[in-house]
Amino acid sequence: MKESQEKPIEKSSTEAPTIFQMLRSFTSELTTYVKNGAPNVSEENYEKRLAICRGCEHLDEKLMRCKLCGCLIQHKAKWKTTTCPDKPSRWEKEDIEVKK
Ligand code: SF4
Repeated sequence: MKESQEKPIEKSSTEAPTIFQMLRSFTSELTTYVKNGAPNVSEENYEKRLAICRGCEHLDEKLMRCKLCGCLIQHKAKWKTTTCPDKPSRWEKEDIEVKK
């Protein structure tokens, strides 16, 4: 089973992703999501993902944005094609073969 292999944005440890990096990451995630038929996780898994993000040091709580990938968590967490960019991933693995 193949899983989406999202790479964290390359940056120094003190820099937040730039707007350009966030847009590039979000566009890439959105393209993959649409290409795969826009599948969403269950409501239960969505809430689990959000709870994990809320307890994560990489979350910008004010913007609800992941500081590793720059994505807005309230969107990203719904999409079955996305993964948490941390190593190892903090989210449960979804049962989907992602077409890139
Ligand atoms: S996606 Fe992963 S790294 Fe980013 S805030 Fe959520 S749990 Fe943390």
